[in-house]
Amino acid sequence: MPPPRTRGTALRQRLAELRGPDVQAKALDARALAALAANPGCRRRAILDGAGVNKAALAGALGSPSAFGQSQFALTRGNAFEAKVKADGGAELLRLVHERLDPGAEPPNSASVPDLTASGPEGRTARTALALREATEQGRGTWTLLDHPMLALDVAGSPAFLEPDAVVVHPDGGWTVVEIKSFPMLDGSADPAKVGAAARQAAVYVLALEEVAARLDPAPRVRHRVLLVCPKDFSNLPTASAVDVRKQRAVTSRQLARLTRIQDIADALPEGVCFSPELPAEQLTASVEAVPAVYAPECLAACELAFHCRDRARADGAVTALGRSVRAELGGLTTVEGVLAAARGEAGDPEDPAVAALRRAALLRTEALGAMCR
Ligand code: SF4
Repeated sequence: MPPPRTRGTALRQRLAELRGPDVQAKALDARALAALAANPGCRRRAILDGAGVNKAALAGALGSPSAFGQSQFALTRGNAFEAKVKADGGAELLRLVHERLDPGAEPPNSASVPDLTASGPEGRTARTALALREATEQGRGTWTLLDHPMLALDVAGSPAFLEPDAVVVHPDGGWTVVEIKSFPMLDGSADPAKVGAAARQAAVYVLALEEVAARLDPAPRVRHRVLLVCPKDFSNLPTASAVDVRKQRAVTSRQLARLTRIQDIADALPEGVCFSPELPAEQLTASVEAVPAVYAPECLAACELAFHCRDRARADGAVTALGRSVRAELGGLTTVEGVLAAARGEAGDPEDPAVAALRRAALLRTEALGAMCR
């Protein structure tokens, strides 16, 4: 077996081939990772994300464009709000961290904001780790704000680079993740679905920070309560709430550990598979279909390829398209055709509880229809 460094280089080359010649890798963000962890059985998504394929561009080239992404207006508004929150060396942001998470500490009348500039994601990750170490070991008793630090998290054998909005080092040396969102907080509470998505995203950052913390001795405490900053009511003024992400952290950690290793998926692919959006749709479809997928309706809210995968699942009559709970009820029956045949008594083991339930349902339906016709 080749040494690990050679294996890592070979994998990177293989992933670059899958992406296509001269196609830049798209960095995985925490939102994508949280979604990836939501469907850990999907090899298609794992290899596409692992190879840094731009799934939105791929979906467009396949003829099933995704309905994902924020409008330009929303992006501009979000950036303007974040700049406001971080103005004056992050004074307002630190005030909110102090007020909501650490009121017993000294107020953040002054704070250090280290320069995190470096070349490339690896360089920025190393610079962030150094700044965290210095703030924790030398900056005791003071506040430090890391604006857009870069963290790395091992995902299925490949590093994913992540960029939280901010990380704050408290005077006691603890670390807090800060998420800044542009959806409003009305009377102190925000849309639970949006808060849930932000919490899953923040949990990914917490996991990545814990990897940095584990390399320090003694390891600093990574706080599991993160700060969510949003516009107050319908204004542009920032407000914040502390969000406990322990549950999301535990779920994401478990799901990421279950992801099939990217190396194994890449090894199983036939020669010639390539996901470059420049390729003709027919060739691209064949490449995408070469990787097994596990479509579920939840994909519609989490993956750019959802329309493509849904069309394929429906064309194959896969019961996964009907939802995970229906799929679980049907046991070994995996196609709609098989389910109908079982219900009609043409196939299936009558001892199988799913088959028995289907036949009973079919009988009741026939009786009901007969009663209506009389
Ligand atoms: S949409 Fe397709 S590729 Fe994306 S997670 Fe679902 S099945 Fe996998």
